[in-house]
Amino acid sequence: MFDSLKKELSRRALLHKAGFGLMGLSVAGVVGQIIKPVRTFAQAAPAPSKEPSLPPEKKLGWAVVGLGKFATEQIMPSFAECKRSKLVALVSGDRAKAEKYAQQYGINPKNIYNYQNYDSIRNNPEVDVIYIILPNGMHAEYSIRGAQAGKHIMCEKPMANTVEECQAMINAANKANRKLMIAYRAQYEPYNLATIQLAQSGKLGKLKSITSDHGRTLNPKDPADIWRMQKKLAGGGSLYDIGIYSLQAARYITGEEPVAISAMMYSTPGDSRFREVEENVNFVLRFPSGVLANCTSSYGYSNTKRIQVFGSDAVLELDPATDYYKHRLVIKDKNGNQEQKIEEKNQFALEMDHLCESIMQNKQPKTPGEEGLQDVRLMQLIYEAARTGKTIKV
Ligand code: NAD
Repeated sequence: MFDSLKKELSRRALLHKAGFGLMGLSVAGVVGQIIKPVRTFAQAAPAPSKEPSLPPEKKLGWAVVGLGKFATEQIMPSFAECKRSKLVALVSGDRAKAEKYAQQYGINPKNIYNYQNYDSIRNNPEVDVIYIILPNGMHAEYSIRGAQAGKHIMCEKPMANTVEECQAMINAANKANRKLMIAYRAQYEPYNLATIQLAQSGKLGKLKSITSDHGRTLNPKDPADIWRMQKKLAGGGSLYDIGIYSLQAARYITGEEPVAISAMMYSTPGDSRFREVEENVNFVLRFPSGVLANCTSSYGYSNTKRIQVFGSDAVLELDPATDYYKHRLVIKDKNGNQEQKIEEKNQFALEMDHLCESIMQNKQPKTPGEEGLQDVRLMQLIYEAARTGKTIKV
């Protein structure tokens, strides 16, 4: 059914077998980022990135669609740290807000669009890439319209509400011969890359189990959380929003695709936040190598972003694991606990520059549309497993 997905997943399986880690990650680069280790699991000498920033005229121009919390607080400020990307256009339903940010970021007001004249962005040669940072239920429409306007697309997670929408986005990008990347920032973040490298290189012994917990309290008074309570705009509840990080972690740490899924779901009865979307989902994934992943996802407990990897020789703890900054990685083995210090980098800048590099070198991005489709497909199976109480064979 999903031919491009199957092709992409087998490409990754080959890379994994060849020892390159998940999705073609260059693990050598990751190892090089570890600084001042108490005891070195990864042995390579530090190799800091020496790549200079491109001059402004050579950077690719980005348009940000949706000027909400994440766009304005994380993504737009991160362009200052990009080497290949520059912010040149804004798309918003609120002209005054867009003008305020245009002034702040030195964007020409002629490069402000709204949701009605969005398609005319095709006539703007300054815009190479469009970054979709809208509610999940709007990702498909704006990605497809953006690709049809001849632009490359970065789309926030989760890719879309349904697998059909994901496939339509992939088809639109392919038809327009444009790149489509899903903004899985953790796959560009140094602590997570080091975790992948340590897990896949055998430094923890044989991998046995992974736990990953992602939770936060949904705030019905926060405008950014209001649409998250509506199924049409959110696609799902905590699983679609943050449980996806638990699912991602299990997949990128093993470098494998799950073969069986079981799950349970529970929402506090009478809590008006959970009329349309779920509060808690716990799910178990079994991978071909035998690794079991215990994952949790919640809108009911306080901020948690934690990963643990259990190997036959050592246990790795990453907590916080998928935050914006201040990650903490500890390895526990027979010699005690060692914290691994790694240089923090702006993961948003890294992922945006990765898409630019993929465009400039005409390569498939590391987290293409197929990666987003696979998560949406698996999240649907997690819901099915929870609803039916059956273990689902993938
Ligand atoms: P937000 O509500 O702050 O931003 C959404 C923007 O969309 C707002 O500017 C809003 O005005 C606009 N919008 C347009 N039409 C809308 C409609 N019909 N209903 C509601 N808003 C509408 O939300 P956010 O937290 O910035 O999330 C936006 C996207 O970014 C989501 O897909 C979310 O999953 C993703 N996100 C990703 C991360 C990450 O770490 N990668 C973090 C936060 C959010």
